[in-house]
Amino acid sequence: MSKILGIDLGTTFSLIAMMKDGKPVCIPNAERRTLLPSVVSFDEEGRPIVGEKGKARRVTHAAQTVYSVKRFMGRGTEEVSQALKQVSYRTAPSSGGVIRFSVGKKEYTPPELSALILRELKVQAEMHLKETVEQVVITVPAYFNDSQRQATKDAGKIAGLEVIRIINEPTAASLAYGMQNKNRGFIAVYDLGGGTFDISILKVQDGLFEVLATAGNTTLGGDDFDYRMAEAALQRGLDRGALKTVTPQQREIARVAAEKIKCTLSAKGKALLSIPMEGTSRRIEEEWTRQDFELLIQDLVASTLTLCERSLKDARLTREKIDEVILVGGSTRIPLVLESVKHFFGKEPHCDLNPDEVVAMGAAVQGEILSGGIQDMLLLDVIPLSLGIETYGGVMSKIIERNSKVPCSVKESFTTFVDGQTSVAIRVFQGERELVKDNRSLAQFDIKVEPMPAGLPRIEVEFMVDANGILKVSAQEQHRGKEVSIQVKPSYGLTDSEVDRLVKESYEYAEGDIRARQLIEARNEAEVVSRGTEKALKEGDSLISEEERRSIEASLVCLKTIVKTEDHFAILRAIEALEENARPLALSLMNRAVAAKLQGRPVKEVLRDFAKNKIPAS
Ligand code: AMP
Repeated sequence: MSKILGIDLGTTFSLIAMMKDGKPVCIPNAERRTLLPSVVSFDEEGRPIVGEKGKARRVTHAAQTVYSVKRFMGRGTEEVSQALKQVSYRTAPSSGGVIRFSVGKKEYTPPELSALILRELKVQAEMHLKETVEQVVITVPAYFNDSQRQATKDAGKIAGLEVIRIINEPTAASLAYGMQNKNRGFIAVYDLGGGTFDISILKVQDGLFEVLATAGNTTLGGDDFDYRMAEAALQRGLDRGALKTVTPQQREIARVAAEKIKCTLSAKGKALLSIPMEGTSRRIEEEWTRQDFELLIQDLVASTLTLCERSLKDARLTREKIDEVILVGGSTRIPLVLESVKHFFGKEPHCDLNPDEVVAMGAAVQGEILSGGIQDMLLLDVIPLSLGIETYGGVMSKIIERNSKVPCSVKESFTTFVDGQTSVAIRVFQGERELVKDNRSLAQFDIKVEPMPAGLPRIEVEFMVDANGILKVSAQEQHRGKEVSIQVKPSYGLTDSEVDRLVKESYEYAEGDIRARQLIEARNEAEVVSRGTEKALKEGDSLISEEERRSIEASLVCLKTIVKTEDHFAILRAIEALEENARPLALSLMNRAVAAKLQGRPVKEVLRDFAKNKIPAS
């Protein structure tokens, strides 16, 4: 089986990781960054600009720049009205079931926008690996419901990826730690990111990672802290009369400034929040202490601990039983968060792996397990929320309880309530409340029954949850023996035909663009590296053996031939071969001091610098 990579599709940043020499590592982009900002901006022609460059447009092109899209995956407009108020881009008036954002001249659904981020990661990995990437494991917050998981899978498909498995972020983190030191015992993974909070309790023994319970809030994270800070400062600006109104752009400027100060306050006791005022050279300036910030967010942090309490109860454990606490997500760098978790569990949490990278790394480990590369680790996960159907009086009749292991399937029989009833509506819900009106509607379908006195027909309903946590429901009336089976298509999801259309469109429009971009990038790199090598050869001819010179020349000729083809992977491989052969030359050209400074730098970069006359020859 080919390589299955791991993707952390985050609210703020996204990453892609792979296994290298038995260890998970995050794959860097051309600028050697592993974190890709989960931001998509659109230029005047409607072309997407993803990542760092997109993020740079958040303030200058607020209405065309979409961020935190994960908050809207698989959700309906009314479910996320608060989160929609917090963003500077706009929902389309046509937003009915699935949210649509109006960006520039077009409308986009959250899975389409996430697909653009996934596609960028795919390209990043392909440029690094010099081969096509197709199969991936994508992580989601453990507390993502069925619709949110389905939306994530759809995004992968639209991006041209085969999503082999959806796994939970905290579980992924525990796998990454498990690879490091085969720990055993009870583990709590506390994951507070930009937009979501998750807590998972696991039991680890002899390579078996068994999730016992999970809880969370899919609309709580660092974004909320930024929002509160920015709003507080803007409100004071309005009260003082320094500001007249708050435009979406002004709000965006304030949020960017607030996020910066929030991060500074993780390291320092005081910081100056300085918000440029739109259209003027003036600023709103306020000094914030760490304590001010802590007061502002303490209720949110406390709410995460309530969820920790609940998941411990679900796992039938007390705090003292937890052997290890793992911290995941950028917001766990906040001292108040760290201290609160430490105090709650009475233990120093682990944060030895980079909290930004650990989830993607764990996804790569799961990819390796699924492709058969790792055989002594196994993951048993759970569903985060109970699944059931509506029975008489609007009651939620649970069929699969939350924290049940996946995959799983449960059958239950139901009957009619009215004499002569000829059809029964099966309404599927997800949630913990007693009445369906308080839970989330997932799907609905009808099943025909023979007219009989009430209570006589037997309707057997089967719920099957796959390893991704995605539900399929089937129902059968015993008398007729006819089965109606549906793949639950979430109320706020894209239909199959919409996904197929988007896959086709993206293939027709985007695929060509991306291949063209990859080819241009590969050719540019080939040009720079060949130029650098030729220069280096001229200057360092006497420093290498005849044989070394010949092999460099041969790979130069090879690169120059291949560069004329359309195969960008072949070009990248030819560059790699040239780098390998030019290594002795590059090294002998550098004097010792420079060599020491540059130790560990890729040869390609040395050659690149050579092309720009950056490196003094000895
Ligand atoms: P994640 O979703 O895990 O990438 O986490 C991103 C969130 O972590 C964002 O809200 C960031 O502002 C926040 N974050 C990153 N570094 C820090 C820091 N040093 N202090 C406070 N928050 C941080």
